[in-house]
Amino acid sequence: MENKPLIQFKNVSFRYNDKAPWVLDNVSFTIEEDEWVAIIGHNGSGKSTIAKLINGLLFPQKGEILISGKKVDEESVWEIRKEVGMVFQNPDNQFVGATVQDDVAFGMENRGIPREEMIKRIDETLKAVGMSDYRLTEPHRLSGGQKQRVAIASVLAISPKVLILDEATAMLDPNGRKEIMQTVSSILDERNFALITITHDLEEIVQADRVIVMNNGQVWDEAKPRDIFTKKEALREIGLDVPFVAILADELKQYGIPLPKEPLN
Ligand code: ADP
Repeated sequence: MENKPLIQFKNVSFRYNDKAPWVLDNVSFTIEEDEWVAIIGHNGSGKSTIAKLINGLLFPQKGEILISGKKVDEESVWEIRKEVGMVFQNPDNQFVGATVQDDVAFGMENRGIPREEMIKRIDETLKAVGMSDYRLTEPHRLSGGQKQRVAIASVLAISPKVLILDEATAMLDPNGRKEIMQTVSSILDERNFALITITHDLEEIVQADRVIVMNNGQVWDEAKPRDIFTKKEALREIGLDVPFVAILADELKQYGIPLPKEPLN
């Protein structure tokens, strides 16, 4: 893995208005190309604000954010947004197309991608998320997990430099959650983008290369999942529970036993 910084936060502070409290307070971190970084923290710790700063939906009052070495500002933001793909919490708010394939095509149409290439990418991305059989299905007929898989395909189709999943599993039932985590594992192999998964669930950080733990708008820790899991008591104090299954899964990974991509049952 090449060590090239893709996203750099340099002493970033942000508040929603002049009178509001700072929701990010002097936050610095770097995310490399091709890296999977999980950002975890209790509700309100500033995770979504970080996501919105990365794609220029918000701008920091202090510090700076660089993407591929380019500062995110009013001028660069349109170019940067083309490279940042985001999938949000609510599967129902992300559809614009009448069918699954229209939906995947939408982001590409906006970027002027030629028709032949669009058809190829629709095929490839729906296959990657296991939704090839649903090309002509109307989105409202899909389950929550299937909707999020299509949302991921739509983002993959624009060949992003970074894919951000912002609590993308939070509104799903356990099966849907499993579906998304399996989808994420399966798209990792040949990826050429950085993956940022934002979550409050420690089970979802196991496979990440690195974890950034947020607490009250500050970076509380930054480490590999297994090092995070050793801080069980301290994590509990900042509102994060380490589930037994997460520790077990991490140990299996440490001994070279991969997590199954399909459920065991
Ligand atoms: P998380 O994603 O970790 O739950 P957020 O980044 O959404 O945290 O929120 C951080 C803080 O900013 C919270 O206190 C939240 O209430 C506040 N906040 C989030 N969005 C807005 C907004 N649009 N206007 C004002 N305050 C906001």
